[in-house]
Amino acid sequence: MSQEPSLDLMSKIVSLCKRRGFIFQSSEIYGGLRSCYDYGPLGVELKRNISNEWWRSMVYEREDIVGLDSSIMMHPKVWQTSGHLSGFSDPLVDCLNCRERFRADKAPTHPVGTAMTFHKGGKTSGEKLKGSVAECGYVCPVCSCPNLSSERQFNLMFRTSLGPVDPTTDMLAVIEPSMTAEQKRAAVDEVAAKTAVYLRPETAQGMFVQFLNVQQSMSMKVPFGIAQVGKSFRNEIVVEHYIFRSCEFEQMEMEFFCEPGTQGDWMKYWCGERMAWYKRYANSGAGFRLRPHDEDELAHYSDGCFDVEYMYPWGWGELEGISSRTNYDLTKHAEATGVKLSYFDQNKADPETGKNGWRYIPYVIEPAAGLTRSVLCFLLDAYHEEHGVDHEGKDKSRVVLKLHPKLAPYKAAVLPLVKKDGLPEKGREIIRILRQAGLNVSYDEQQSIGKRYARHDEIGTPYCLTVDMQSLEDGTVTIRDRDTATQQRVKITEVLGIIQNRMNADPATC
Ligand code: ATP
Repeated sequence: MSQEPSLDLMSKIVSLCKRRGFIFQSSEIYGGLRSCYDYGPLGVELKRNISNEWWRSMVYEREDIVGLDSSIMMHPKVWQTSGHLSGFSDPLVDCLNCRERFRADKAPTHPVGTAMTFHKGGKTSGEKLKGSVAECGYVCPVCSCPNLSSERQFNLMFRTSLGPVDPTTDMLAVIEPSMTAEQKRAAVDEVAAKTAVYLRPETAQGMFVQFLNVQQSMSMKVPFGIAQVGKSFRNEIVVEHYIFRSCEFEQMEMEFFCEPGTQGDWMKYWCGERMAWYKRYANSGAGFRLRPHDEDELAHYSDGCFDVEYMYPWGWGELEGISSRTNYDLTKHAEATGVKLSYFDQNKADPETGKNGWRYIPYVIEPAAGLTRSVLCFLLDAYHEEHGVDHEGKDKSRVVLKLHPKLAPYKAAVLPLVKKDGLPEKGREIIRILRQAGLNVSYDEQQSIGKRYARHDEIGTPYCLTVDMQSLEDGTVTIRDRDTATQQRVKITEVLGIIQNRMNADPATC
C-alpha cells in the first residue's frame, strides 16, 4: 500500500535520501547552507533520468521542438525588459514580536479586529500578550502576533557583478554621512547597476531572446517550440519543505510559439500532454491534478494559466505552471532592442489586409516544470512501506521505492550468492552484458543476500539477479522482482530482454 500523505512521510523521505545517497545537505560538515542541497550518487541518477525522460518526450519524440542551453547570466537589460527587475518580488514583512521574516501573501489570515493571544518573543510559554488583527488582515505565521512591520517589496533575483572590478569601493565612495538611509540605498544601487548582472530566476528568457536565431538556423515553422533544462535561482524569502522550495533549483521549460488565436487550443493540448507525462511515470495518477488560475492570479500579460499540482504531504501544491503568455515577451524584447522578433507565414493571408503572406508576433504557451520539485514528487509517489510476517512468523516488513524503471537509478543489481567459487566472475560477465546495452546496473557482493535485497528495494532497483552454483552449471540466475518480491529462474540470455520490456511498459503493467 502506498503511504497516505503525511508530514511523517516527509521525514522518512529525507532520512532515506541521506542514508542511501540520494540527497545531502550542502556543505554539511560546515553546518550546512540554508536551502542548498547536493544530489548524491543515486540522486543525480534519478534527477538525470527524470530530465532525460522530459527531454525525450519534448525533443526526441517530436519534430516541432528543438533544444537550447542558454547562459545563466544574461544582459541585465533582459531582466529590465521582461519586468523581472521591477516586478519579480514578493511582499516581505517582519514580525515585531519574534522577528520572523515572512511573505505577506502566504501568512495566515484573520478578519480585521480579531483578538490574538501570543507569547512574548515568540516563545512557546511564558508571558502572554494580546493584540488585534490590523488592516492587512494577517498575522505572523510563527507566533500569531498581529504587530507587524509594513510590507516592502523584496526582489527575488540574485545580483552579482561582472568584470574584475569589485564595485564595493565605488559604492562606499558615493555615500555621504548627511544622506538618509533611503538616499544611501539609492546611491549604492546606482553604482551597483553599472556592473550588475543577475542569476536567471527562470530559464524562459533565454529562449525568448534566442527565438530568431533558433527559428532561422533550424528553419522552424510556427507552431514550434524551444525546450531547455537548467538551473534557476531565486532568493526566496521562505524556503520550505526540503527541495520543494530552494534558492537554487532546476527547471524544465518549453516555449511553444503558435499563431495568434490558436493559443486556447494549444493550451488544452499541452495541459493534456503534461498531465499524461506525469501519470506515465507515477504509481498513483490520483496524486496529480490540473488547477485553472482564477482571473486575479493571472500575470497582467497572461490570458490563461493552469497549474499541475501534486498532493504533497502538506496538501496540494504546484509542480508545473502551464501559462499562456500571449506575445508579451517577444513584443517587449523587440521594442527594447529594435530587432523584429516576428514570423512570416507566406502561405497564410494577413487577416487585416486579406493579402497573401502574414507577418505576426507568435503567441506562446509555456509548460514550466520544476525538475528538483519533480524529484521530490516522484520520491513521495514511490515510497511504500509493507508490514507483515512470513509463514514462519519472521518479520518481512520492508521499504520499497517503487520508482518507474525508467527513473530508477539502477535498472538491476547483480548479486553473487558468495564471494568465491567463480560466482563473482559469472556476476561480472552478466554486468558486462547489461552495461554494454547502456543500462546503469549495480554489482553488489556486500552483506547477506537478504540485506542486499532490502537495500535494493529501498533505492528502487527493479530487479535483483542472484548468481549461484546452478548459474555456473546451466547459465541461469534467479530474478527477483522489487514490487512483488517474487523470484523466478531464468536464462542469463533472457535477462536483458526482461529488464528492457519492463522499462518500456506502463506502470500499470510493470
Ligand atoms: P511557486 O508558486 O511554488 O512559488 P512559481 O509559480 O513561482 O512557483 P514558476 O515561476 O511558474 O513557479 O516556475 C515553474 C516551476 O519551477 C514551478 O512550478 C516549480 O516546480 C519550479 N520552482 C519555482 N520556484 C522554485 C523554487 N524556489 N524551488 C524549487 N522549484 C521551484
